[in-house]
Amino acid sequence: MAGALSRGALPLFRFKGIQVRLHWSFIALPLYVAYSSLSEGLGWSIVWMQLAMVGIVFACVVLHEFGHALTARHFGVGTRDITLLPIGGVASLERMPEEPRQEFWITVAGPAVNLVIAVLSFIIVAAMGLVTLFSDLLLGATMFTNLLFFLVAANLWLFLFNLIPAFPMDGGRILRSVLAMRMPRERATRIAAGLGRAVAILGMGYGLYAGQPFLALIGLFIYMAAGAEARNVAQREQLRGIGVAQVMRTRFWTMGGAASVAEARDELLAGGDTALLVLDIAGQPMGVVSGSDIIQAIEQGRSTTRLSDLPPRPAAPIAPSDDAHEATQRMIMSGLPLMPVIEAGRLVGVLELQNLQEYLRLRRAERSTDQR
Ligand SMILES: [Zn+2]
Repeated sequence: MAGALSRGALPLFRFKGIQVRLHWSFIALPLYVAYSSLSEGLGWSIVWMQLAMVGIVFACVVLHEFGHALTARHFGVGTRDITLLPIGGVASLERMPEEPRQEFWITVAGPAVNLVIAVLSFIIVAAMGLVTLFSDLLLGATMFTNLLFFLVAANLWLFLFNLIPAFPMDGGRILRSVLAMRMPRERATRIAAGLGRAVAILGMGYGLYAGQPFLALIGLFIYMAAGAEARNVAQREQLRGIGVAQVMRTRFWTMGGAASVAEARDELLAGGDTALLVLDIAGQPMGVVSGSDIIQAIEQGRSTTRLSDLPPRPAAPIAPSDDAHEATQRMIMSGLPLMPVIEAGRLVGVLELQNLQEYLRLRRAERSTDQR
């Protein structure tokens, strides 16, 4: 989804190594604002003011997303980019940690940013209020005071709106992580997604009833996203009781640690996989290098660096007899795209996320033909 989002998005700026983009559909928001105001007979000066307000709200949305992204970085999780949509922002984290405590803090950080902006703006307004009590010299400050009041209102609204416990919004994620501290993650997700869908249906219904198309659109978005997340977790659940041997890839791409980044790039372009296993001289796995690791190394001018010096990301080996579900959970938690499968000291395959999804799709297809 993240990749699909950034494809149709205009790069705006980069901060702390994270690219901020504007999705093409964003244009709908200023057009809608301008159209609805002009059709109500309001002048262009009002329209410009409203557009400025939209700009300020989205600046706060960007700060909110950086709250998520920088907290995720604290836990060793990178962010591909931040994309702004007319209904809000999305920080595309490389993965969401399955450790509930980490998911909790990463998610809480976004709304917390809005609360901090609201409180700071309020303190400044309050302080200025005290000053104006003693002198009328600050007459020119009304515009600034209005801006601060707007910041307080907008950020309080962003804070409360994001805390609605409708998965996959922040409130729903916070709910899921708190539940997951007490029960299996799958069950926590089912409960949070169910609540999310219920809230989404209420939102859509109210949006249509009250003639608020944006609210209805947000409801539809939440409904679909809640379903997608619940499906992902349920899919992984199907791997329970299946051995790694059944789902591992036996054809895979390896390279010696002495090979250079440039050689790995050539292999990648020649149609390699999305990640490769790096082997030492004895043919034992040293770790994993992903396609994005290679791109990053090239960007840093390290084309001649040996793969062993990158260094590869360490990947604990798994056994063919291990449970595929547990192995997948471990792989996701460690943020690796693949893990080596070792039997009696010999490399026999790799477990790969992309391949697992393929396996599950095939299995569903086979089941549906069986039922005919
Ligand atoms: Zn958020």
